[in-house]
Amino acid sequence: MRVRSIRRVSLRTPTGRSVVHYEPRRPGLRRCGGCGRPISGVPRDDVRPLPKSQKRISRYHGGNLCHKCLERRIEDAVSSEWNA
Ligand SMILES: [Zn+2]
Repeated sequence: MRVRSIRRVSLRTPTGRSVVHYEPRRPGLRRCGGCGRPISGVPRDDVRPLPKSQKRISRYHGGNLCHKCLERRIEDAVSSEWNA
């Protein structure tokens, strides 16, 4: 198919023939909702079904916020509670 919505992968077969395979595009890295940096511990693409525990970090806002942004939000919440 001559469309760019699918990715082309040039391969060399064991017989020496070079072929083009068409594969789905890989999604980008999961990024933090606060600072936009990539979040680690989250798979980039799900080729096979994974258990939920392997799709995000088991932490508050795991998979949505990075550890730094979560830390700052917790600190802000605690300090606002103290001042109130
Ligand atoms: Zn962040």
